[in-house]
Amino acid sequence: CFLSALGLLLAYYFYPATDSFRPEMLQGKRVIVTGASTGIGEQIAYHLARMGAHLVVTARTEAKLKKVISECLKLGAASAHFIPGTMEDLVFAEQVVTKAGKLMGGLDMLILNHIAPVNLRFFNGDVASIRKVMDINFFSYITMTSAALPMLKVTNGSIVVVSSIAGKLITPLIADYSAAKFALDGFYSSLQKELQLMNVNISITLCILGFINTDSAVKSLSGIVENITPSPKEECAVEIIKGGALRQKVIAYPSSIYISMWNPIRTIQEYFILLTYNIDNITRN
Ligand code: NDP
Repeated sequence: CFLSALGLLLAYYFYPATDSFRPEMLQGKRVIVTGASTGIGEQIAYHLARMGAHLVVTARTEAKLKKVISECLKLGAASAHFIPGTMEDLVFAEQVVTKAGKLMGGLDMLILNHIAPVNLRFFNGDVASIRKVMDINFFSYITMTSAALPMLKVTNGSIVVVSSIAGKLITPLIADYSAAKFALDGFYSSLQKELQLMNVNISITLCILGFINTDSAVKSLSGIVENITPSPKEECAVEIIKGGALRQKVIAYPSSIYISMWNPIRTIQEYFILLTYNIDNITRN
């Protein structure tokens, strides 16, 4: 048992993707990108456009989304649409998926990337603001995933969840953001195992990111976090797309932060916990 657990562990962490990435993998694929009006999401949209994907992008700022889709069409997107609105509204979150499915005639990949603006500060007892952040950064992700699962089952599609090192390691001043990112890890890591147990061929890729040079991140860390050079958002976006296309369980960017995911004890314990389950007695929907 121990040796097989160790084998699985090593395979989990070190086994290279069996397929190598080719941009054609995204050609004609139908993709939703959230938080695509700026930052990493905008760059993901541009790369997917160059690869010839069909795109539906969303965020709150309609004017920026219009510019993004016009650029996507110039870059070669098979089609590009935008749906503006706030992910604070979970009805909107669900509607984005159903509308996008109709616009594109199905769905191959759901890229969940948006976040509420980040304010570095001490927790001041404001529970309402934490709830708002959880709605935007966590519950809207789950809502969109739930709405997308039936379409993704048809296409053997992929869910890509953009998370952070702050969802793996503890840092002060971002308790709300960190809570949402840890929650995403817990939810999607569990869902990954459930889909596997049910033989549902939908991949989930959790993207663990370090400091990236988006305007918002540079601005919010300025004067507080020093002596770290941010990594380029353009390259980060490519790594996220590659991870999704290659159906990797987890990716880390920049690769230097990969060590933060190295938790062999957790992986061994998870393996043994699963051995105690009587899967045949679980009702499958
Ligand atoms: P940005 O702040 O640059 O972009 C956030 C996006 O989310 C924008 O498109 C914004 O558009 C949208 N958004 C904000 N509020 C809402 C809302 N209420 N409803 C719908 N959309 C909203 O973020 P980054 O590009 O820096 O980050 C992208 C992802 O990468 C996030 O998941 C983040 O946690 C992760 N990450 C980033 C790091 C970094 O250093 N940049 C580090 C680690 C992780 P609009 O305002 O128009 O709504």
